Amino acid sequence: MTSLTYTPPDAGGRPGPFAIPTGLLIGHSWRDSTSGARIEIVNPSTGETLTAVADCGVAEGIAAVDAASAAAADWAATPPRKRADILFACFHAMMAEQEWLAQLISLENGKALSDARGEVAYAAEFFRWYAEEAVRITGEMGIAPGGANRILVQYQPIGVALLITPWNFPAAMATRKIAPALAAGCTCILKPAEETPLTALAVAEILRRAGVPAGVINVINASDPGPVCSAILHDTRVRKLSFTGSTEVGRILLREAADTVVSASMELGGNAPFLVLDDADLDAAIEGAMVAKMRNAGEACTAANRFYVQRGIHDRFVEKLVARMGAMAVGAGCDPATQCGAMINQASIDKIERLVADAIAKGADVRLGGATLERAGFFYPPSVIANVQPGSAILEDEVFGPVAAIIPFDDIEDAIRLANATDYGLAAYVYSADLKNALQIAERIECGMVAVNRGLVSDAAAPFGGMKQSGLGREGSHHGLTEYCEIKYIAVSW
Ligand code: NAP
Repeated sequence: MTSLTYTPPDAGGRPGPFAIPTGLLIGHSWRDSTSGARIEIVNPSTGETLTAVADCGVAEGIAAVDAASAAAADWAATPPRKRADILFACFHAMMAEQEWLAQLISLENGKALSDARGEVAYAAEFFRWYAEEAVRITGEMGIAPGGANRILVQYQPIGVALLITPWNFPAAMATRKIAPALAAGCTCILKPAEETPLTALAVAEILRRAGVPAGVINVINASDPGPVCSAILHDTRVRKLSFTGSTEVGRILLREAADTVVSASMELGGNAPFLVLDDADLDAAIEGAMVAKMRNAGEACTAANRFYVQRGIHDRFVEKLVARMGAMAVGAGCDPATQCGAMINQASIDKIERLVADAIAKGADVRLGGATLERAGFFYPPSVIANVQPGSAILEDEVFGPVAAIIPFDDIEDAIRLANATDYGLAAYVYSADLKNALQIAERIECGMVAVNRGLVSDAAAPFGGMKQSGLGREGSHHGLTEYCEIKYIAVSW
């Protein structure tokens, strides 16, 4: 094991349950990069450096492929019940450390502790769900129409998987990939986001201690992920890429995956519309808006980005949303009083400022917030901008922050047209007391997921994913497992 570790404190400032190795997990051991280069990790709530992690080069990336490849046959041959038992152990091990992991997430990501606790529970749930799925991978058997032979269909592990994750849910985006990969019998290499590697390293150490065999999970961090991931994807032993992140990087990786025809699952950016109809229950719509907009301080791919509110309820909706968002406590993620934590970095603040300034220049009214907070760290306050005009950049691009952009509408057909007027199609929200109407609208919205009269869609048991340029494939549910399976057809005569 590398001698370099990091021990984040628990709530009382005491050392946490174990020291997090800050190296690369390759095979059975933690090691440093050969170059000795390290990546500094910053606490977004203060702007101060927390620690540094090993910076992987191409050689270590290929060493991770060696390790995953060496472990692949044994893991694929491990009985499903045994794989399930290990996944259950991972679920319990993660939940046993829920509070400490939540504090770690808040520390390196800046999100409020309440959001981080929810993330750990959501992240761990993928292990429980896929433990239950691991023993239910069945096949099919049929008779060829001509009657000459039998058609036997098997689901086999697709092989070594490269998993690339973003910083906004550093635990859940990793486990949403690791759990189905392991359940299917695949080994993997996880490349977490540069801003939030500590959570991934802590989770990997928890999984290792819970009994995941050497080489089944490998973790690498890289300050220059392009060449490392490209080399991994061009190694023909790698058969799967699962990526969560921006559409822009997703496109690059799809091109990389094309060279060796690697199966690719893509969870990309969103631009979620949130429709409130005149007949909606106003209080329920506000509750839903608070979750859809303010969970993770707006740093979620499913975050409501555009609020289309029908004229009859519009003014009351804006007034109540301003009151609720204005009452939120903004502060350091780890402060238990915080409801809206820090943004991840200065680039995020710059993007929010640019989108808000553009909306104002085009005629929007600032009803709340609207300017970066002058304090250490990266803080943007809960903000409401109403009367956002067509053509404003905030309607095209995810703001990824605590800014609610509101647009009034009169005609429902217009609202549906506006909701669909985007290249993205991840999540959408509809509030109406008329369920028939709401479901008809839900069917017509071009998104992979629609929440009707609720502000949350994420569930380990549900297929999560997008249409259009929001992605390819699904995570969660039994659909998430098949992303890691190859369908083998055997024609049999007897
Ligand atoms: P990002 O910039 O696309 O980065 C995502 C991951 O890709 C990071 O690990 C990043 O590493 C890595 N990466 C960047 N360039 C790469 C390259 N050329 N080759 C290989 N890997 C590369 O996204 P982000 O800013 O971390 O996350 C925010 C985005 O994720 C938003 O667009 C959000 O909507 C999306 N998201 C989607 C979902 C979903 O389920 N659909 C869920 C969460 C987030 P570095 O950190 O080193 O750059």
